[in-house]
Amino acid sequence: SPGTVSPLARREESPVPVARRPRLTVLSGPSGVGKSTVVAHLRKAHPEVWLSVSATTRKPRPGEREGVQYFFVSDDEFDKLIANGELLEWAEFAGNRYGTPRRAVEDRLEAGEPVLLEIDLQGARLVRESMPDAQLVFLAPPSWEELVRRLTGRGTESPEVIERRLAAARVELAAEKEFDTTLVNTSVEDVARELLALLC
Ligand code: 5GP
Repeated sequence: SPGTVSPLARREESPVPVARRPRLTVLSGPSGVGKSTVVAHLRKAHPEVWLSVSATTRKPRPGEREGVQYFFVSDDEFDKLIANGELLEWAEFAGNRYGTPRRAVEDRLEAGEPVLLEIDLQGARLVRESMPDAQLVFLAPPSWEELVRRLTGRGTESPEVIERRLAAARVELAAEKEFDTTLVNTSVEDVARELLALLC
């Protein structure tokens, strides 16, 4: 009868045990969708949110600082990080390599603190494999036209680099279905708030 709750249904309604709650959140999505803007906005309002700083072989853009946006390393140094097992995941993106330093992430997780990674799709897939409890969040553009506008408008990249990034973005958009959650980047404030709510 409608008022009866079976033992099975009760079990389904019981809260997820604390130990199984996702504490590692991966924010991914096409290049230029605004991942780093959303994360910067979130961290300005909530400096306590810990974001992994990646290593990259890309050259710094104007205004980028060592250890803040990235650890900028040479190809040889990146090879060593891989060889020594110091990267949780790494991927090649538009001609450069990017990777997540493992140790800092593991330390935070062991301390029971939420961890946020802002990485590309290949990296998100690797994290899913090695950490099945990770929560994967896809940041989607409001439209393809808007994404093209953002990728073209940054003005810091050559036409060849932009073309490579657009090609990657086309593939990346199709990956949305692999993610646990999609956030549409209509407003930085809204998305940052939604992301914060997903972290803890
Ligand atoms: P950008 O050169 O614009 O800073 O970053 C290019 C792409 O690399 C972005 O999609 C960014 O999310 C991704 N990325 C940054 N750090 C990492 C990382 O540690 N691992 C992976 N797999 N991708 C990263």
